[in-house]
Amino acid sequence: MKKVMILKYAELNTKKANIGLFLKQLKRNLEEKLKKLPVKITYDKGRMFLYMEEEYFKEVLDITQNTFGIHEIMIGYELEERSIETIGDYLKKFIHEKEFETFKVETKRSDKTYPMTSLEISKYLGGVVLKAKQNVKVDVHHPDLTIHIEIRQKDAYIIFDTVKGLGGYPVGTLGKGLLMLSGGIDSPVAGYLAMKRGVKLEAIYFESPPHTSVEAKNKVVQLKNILSQYGSDIKLHVISFTEIQESIYKNIPHEYLITIMRRMMYRISAKIAYQNRCKVLINGESIGQVASQTLTSMSVINEVVKMPVIRPVACFDKLEIIDLAKKIGTYETSILPYEDCCTIFVPEHPVIDPELEKCIQYESKISYEELIQKSIKNETIIKETKNEFEDLL
Ligand code: ATP
Ligand code: MG
Repeated sequence: MKKVMILKYAELNTKKANIGLFLKQLKRNLEEKLKKLPVKITYDKGRMFLYMEEEYFKEVLDITQNTFGIHEIMIGYELEERSIETIGDYLKKFIHEKEFETFKVETKRSDKTYPMTSLEISKYLGGVVLKAKQNVKVDVHHPDLTIHIEIRQKDAYIIFDTVKGLGGYPVGTLGKGLLMLSGGIDSPVAGYLAMKRGVKLEAIYFESPPHTSVEAKNKVVQLKNILSQYGSDIKLHVISFTEIQESIYKNIPHEYLITIMRRMMYRISAKIAYQNRCKVLINGESIGQVASQTLTSMSVINEVVKMPVIRPVACFDKLEIIDLAKKIGTYETSILPYEDCCTIFVPEHPVIDPELEKCIQYESKISYEELIQKSIKNETIIKETKNEFEDLL
């Protein structure tokens, strides 16, 4: 008999043909996150099994609960001898330590050759519990304790604890996307949601030194580190946007500043994405939130790229985004009061229905292609959980 953590896959069950690839990726992601802990992982098409010493269960549970691709995490015991009598004997032993007044037994029998049906097993083991423990009764609707029994090909499992997983697909199963990561509340949430659908992230951040500070950049680094915990380490591309922004500021009517600035951001992002084999751009735009996020603004800005732009929070209210930001642990960092490059050059009356022809005409006044090339050439890349000082060493 061994204590074991059992993972139920999320939507992977619908991926019949590709299931092997999905499971391999899930195992790889877990191995990467658990590499410092002595955990052995095995799996079949129905379940993944994690074996470890008792003292590691809590830490491993925290990590698996923050990993995409898992529907439920169950903790229980694996019995190599799976006759009904043996299961009954172990159940009797375990049940003595549990405190409950009502219970039910639920059985899942994936080995259909087992000599009893699921219902017969549940009834038999329910009888065992009733005999072994005084003053308890069966309640199939709201029991204090649900005992799950799983009969699989080789082994049987007795499970007492079940916790919900995050769902989604294992990060990396759907290719790579480039997240436009500002220091705000929305873009980290957008990144989290894209990761949930299996997208591996790289991130891009536009800074405008000296108008923006090192603290503002560190905040973005911190946000990407928090997001990295849900998948693998996120590579952050930092682009200096100062020259472009100053040039726009000098040459373009101020009501169009934001529109043109965002067109430049999109152009650069698409190029960086292309160079790094990211298939889509991801950002935190939400319909109607600010002038640059009206439908007209979005379409005029989007016009400069061919690559799909995914906006996971496009239809969320700000309050819904904030709730999620708190849940995933980015909120506290996002609200730190450092300026962003957009906030510094915000005009008093940004246009809400920009015209494409005007954008093109205004852009012709600046040699933006050159500036874009230069900013890309001078990008800095931040990997792993490094800080400013390590970059200098
Ligand atoms: P956030 O969405 O992060 O809260 P915000 O609400 O200030 O920022 P905008 O400034 O309108 O929103 O930006 C919309 C989106 O554009 C952001 O969600 C982010 O994806 C991207 N973006 C904005 N500024 C930057 C930046 N400096 N670097 C990278 N991406 C940015
Ligand atoms: Mg926003």
